[in-house]
Amino acid sequence: MEWKRFLSIPIFAVFLLMGFVYYVTLFVSIEDWVGLRSSDGSFHALVFSFLAFYSVFAFFVCVLTDPGRVPSSYVPDVEDRELSDQEFRRNVTHQRKCEICSTFKPQRCHHCRTCRRCVLRMDHHCQWINNCVGYWNYKAFFILVFFATVASIYSTVIFIASVLQKDWEVWGQSHSKGLYVACGVPVLGLSMTLGSLLCWHIYLMANNMTTIEYYEGVRAQWLARKSGQSYRHPFNLGVYRNVTSVLGPNVLKWLLPTAVSHLKDGISFRVAHDMKQTT
Ligand SMILES: [Zn+2]
Ligand SMILES: [Zn+2]
Repeated sequence: MEWKRFLSIPIFAVFLLMGFVYYVTLFVSIEDWVGLRSSDGSFHALVFSFLAFYSVFAFFVCVLTDPGRVPSSYVPDVEDRELSDQEFRRNVTHQRKCEICSTFKPQRCHHCRTCRRCVLRMDHHCQWINNCVGYWNYKAFFILVFFATVASIYSTVIFIASVLQKDWEVWGQSHSKGLYVACGVPVLGLSMTLGSLLCWHIYLMANNMTTIEYYEGVRAQWLARKSGQSYRHPFNLGVYRNVTSVLGPNVLKWLLPTAVSHLKDGISFRVAHDMKQTT
């Protein structure tokens, strides 16, 4: 457990933002809309609190989970060489070596300059969790983005409902509208940012792709087109298999960030049989 990862300014900023949104939702939006002590108010406060605290739980899992380290004993499987030779370009080659760590890099593994080490199935380095998003914490990261998006959209809807039902003629004389702008802009901005991030990761997960592989794929596609060939992402096994490779085969455990027993070693990955280049 890397508790010292919490000693970072972006993580402190995340906690501040979470606290701010939580306060605004309960004590400004819900309070003004139906009253926090009413049965409707208590119900919405309870649902929102669950979403918020589940997001915090997933956030802790993301920060504290090691994204995946290359075992010191790792050497590329020579017998796989023939297979890797058929695969497209360097992104799936087994034989790559990290010049900084001086160790072999398995498939989908990349060196993170911030973490100063190689990370298995590296997606990207996320400063907001002060950790890499890799093989072991990608599921938690996805669930964090999912719950944080749902929570912020929920907060935005409550905020809009409270604004719409207010009699501004009367209320505006004694209060500043600036307070509502200061509360509404961050909540709305957060919903849009997290919503876009969620859509992006749904797309990546449905294609069994990492952020790095997406950009590698754009280049590979361009190179393939130049030479009159086509390129298909080699790890794309079909949407259902792609999704279960991240979230697990048991649908009941899809939303549990710590349920990762379906993950294996993060070193070898199934490759689609029909991924070979076609002319
Ligand atoms: Zn490295
Ligand atoms: Zn990193």
